[in-house]
Amino acid sequence: AQVPVNVTVTGAAGQIGYALLFRIASGQLLGPDTPVKLRLLEIPQAVKAAEGTAMELDDCAFPLLRGIDIFDDPRQAFDGANVALLVGARPRTKGMERGDLLEANGGIFKPQGEAINAGAADDIRVLVVGNPANTNALIAQAHAPDVPAERFTAMTRLDHNRAISQLAAKLGVPVTDISKLTIWGNHSATQYPDIFHAEVAGKNAAEAVNDEAWLSGTFIPTVAKRGAAIIEARGASSAASAANAAIDHVHDWVLGTPEGDWTSAAIVSDGSYGVPEGLISSFPVVSRDGRWEIVQGLEIDAFSRERIDASVQELTEERDAVRKLGLI
Ligand code: NDP
Repeated sequence: AQVPVNVTVTGAAGQIGYALLFRIASGQLLGPDTPVKLRLLEIPQAVKAAEGTAMELDDCAFPLLRGIDIFDDPRQAFDGANVALLVGARPRTKGMERGDLLEANGGIFKPQGEAINAGAADDIRVLVVGNPANTNALIAQAHAPDVPAERFTAMTRLDHNRAISQLAAKLGVPVTDISKLTIWGNHSATQYPDIFHAEVAGKNAAEAVNDEAWLSGTFIPTVAKRGAAIIEARGASSAASAANAAIDHVHDWVLGTPEGDWTSAAIVSDGSYGVPEGLISSFPVVSRDGRWEIVQGLEIDAFSRERIDASVQELTEERDAVRKLGLI
């Protein structure tokens, strides 16, 4: 029988955690043949709620779920972890400056990086969902010097999926007709969803749209501000779609991206496309043999260049801010 994969989830008692755990346990993260053990991390006051979720997971009698352990100590939660989904984070509250937000999250992601460094399995793969995701991932990575930097990633897959859905709706085609879309930069309002290399049923998507006013006036802001639109409509932030994107990200990382397509993920830059080395920025990526590779050789026109640069500039500023705070 296969050895179970240890999956650590932080913020397990939160909204996203609730949508995520059942899908992991049912086999949608790592495929129908891979048993999993869940290791849930919560802050002490949320441990009881996590226990409630664990009871429900038990009650599903998932054939692939081989155990659930709950911790309030990162050292224990990441011990032996093969996959880590860092969902819990300190949200920005009213009146909070960016520096305060980065500092509060430094207090979470620094010890988690250290715990991953100390005890995670050799094949550990980390996805940061909690915002500001790219910079939280950078903080964790900086405190895990023994783990290859490429194992730390941040989620832009929800933005990617949102962009596919908006583009398919505009063109009146099923989402399965859309390929090679890219989210560049930061998972924030500055992100740039790029359709210039995207294809619709094999033809260039930007040419099929042929509407620059829609592209800059509707598509880009709709994708970037979708989170706020969902809060406005639902009265709560997106959770199931964020969980779905986290599943997609790790699934593709471990099991590979489909031939002839790519996806988007924020990974450590190697300097490609002028993104400073070491920043965790979103790129067009494929996964081969369990490793993300940046799709090379795409031509970037002035329209795209300006938007990629603006988002990367924001990432640079966030990195400089956490450096100044002594967090990296
Ligand atoms: P959610 O589960 O709704 O969200 C968790 C994080 O995911 C937030 O940082 C949120 O950012 C982020 N996120 C990223 N993408 C999206 C998206 N598309 N839509 C919505 N959220 C997104 O938060 P809850 O408050 O329900 O739960 C958080 C849990 O984490 C709590 O149970 C808390 O106790 C726990 N926690 C655990 C920690 C730990 O384990 N050490 C540390 C801190 C918190 P944004 O706020 O910007 O939407």
